[in-house]
Amino acid sequence: SFKLPENVNFIIHTLMEHGFEGYAVGGCVRDTLLGRNPQDWDITTSARPEQVKELFSHTIDTGIQHGTVTVMLDHEGYEVTTYRIDGEYEDARHPKEVTFTANLIEDLKRRDFTINAMAYNEAAGLVDAFDGIGDLKRKVIRCVGDPMERFSEDALRMLRAVRFAAQLGFEIAPDTKDAVSRLAETIQKVSAERIQVELVKLLVSDHPEEIRQVYELGLSAQVLPEFDRMMQTPQRNIHHCYSVGEHTIHALMQIRADKVLRLTMLFHDVAKPLCITVDDNGEEHYHGHPKMGADMTKQILRRLKFDNDTIDRTAKLVAAHDDRPPLTEKAIRRAVSRIGLEQYPQLFEVKRADTLAQSAYQREEKLAYIAGYEAIYQDILRKNQCLQKKDMSVNGRDLIAYGMKPGKQMGEILNQLFEAVLEQPELNDREKLLQLAHKFADPFI
Ligand code: ATP
Ligand code: MG
Repeated sequence: SFKLPENVNFIIHTLMEHGFEGYAVGGCVRDTLLGRNPQDWDITTSARPEQVKELFSHTIDTGIQHGTVTVMLDHEGYEVTTYRIDGEYEDARHPKEVTFTANLIEDLKRRDFTINAMAYNEAAGLVDAFDGIGDLKRKVIRCVGDPMERFSEDALRMLRAVRFAAQLGFEIAPDTKDAVSRLAETIQKVSAERIQVELVKLLVSDHPEEIRQVYELGLSAQVLPEFDRMMQTPQRNIHHCYSVGEHTIHALMQIRADKVLRLTMLFHDVAKPLCITVDDNGEEHYHGHPKMGADMTKQILRRLKFDNDTIDRTAKLVAAHDDRPPLTEKAIRRAVSRIGLEQYPQLFEVKRADTLAQSAYQREEKLAYIAGYEAIYQDILRKNQCLQKKDMSVNGRDLIAYGMKPGKQMGEILNQLFEAVLEQPELNDREKLLQLAHKFADPFI
């Protein structure tokens, strides 16, 4: 039942015709055996990078020093990596040196988990030296070899174990898990960029609730202490039945698998542990500064080296998630212009997920309220009202054609026009806006 894509077969056959070995390896073999669609196809070979380059007309030097050449076929890239033995890892990050080898099994031995250490080609069939098949059947994430050793070589593997558990719905093997607990502290040594990649894959997986294990195993204490605070903050009020952290986990399970949406749910209550006070009756009160959660979110995402677009979108949704829904068209138009038209509908998803992760108290009422809010928003869209500056009936060029000087003052006038249109949608008409611009500006030339 194993069918390699034509291009992968072509690469493998070309290698073999020239006396080398070639196999599909790693994630693509695992995913195919599971009936999942592989993200990309990696090939492992006994050929050296220079030899791979000689065999294919279009190649890219992706990581020659690590043995990786990308072969381009039909505008798609296939990473072809020479069998290698990773040398000692100097700082739980980088192998000091890589040694090429002619032995496939040596190459499979350096891989992180048994389910990721299988190779396949049509001639040899499946090469499974560490019972990856057995672990796939048992649904287990298990290190190849001694887990303490493997995590000491590269601490990122500990987070990868949880990530694969989340993607595949697998358990981490007891001795592998035990080694994570014991070595969790060393995750500090891993770069923020590598942690970010694994965290995002975990969050957008089918089982984002596995983030609980990141906490339980002691990994978040190092890389996301804010999450530990959430897990350790109970909520004693009628709206909640979980700690801040458990509520967050349930909110993650309620929201669509999208990077920004899952990050938003992860951080929507990040400031709460710092803002809860308990009165004499044991009642809790939340004194949230609405900007505080967004500021903390930005700071954390920057620390994890996320790109500015992701930071901006996530922080905006975090900032707005708890806003009292504006229930007039005018207020909604303002909110849309602040948060962004493209992003705004995500706010309804965020509010629903947040509500569904709270106690059952007034849940139906809360959801009805959100539905009413969304209905007004949909109505605004149906009426085609202007919600962004670029959708105004007049732009800078029109004003210049009308005789206005480009510059700061003109920018101000465009802002004023947009304000007026948000206030009164019927003003979004060329004639009316030009007239208004005339009123706003005195020194026409
Ligand atoms: P995905 O579907 O997310 O791409 P993947 O299994 O392909 O999952 P990659 O990170 O793309 O994961 O790595 C490809 C392969 O390289 C893995 O299957 C594994 O064999 C090996 N590998 C990757 N990272 C490590 C690591 N840190 N230590 C050991 N082996 C690794
Ligand atoms: Mg991969």
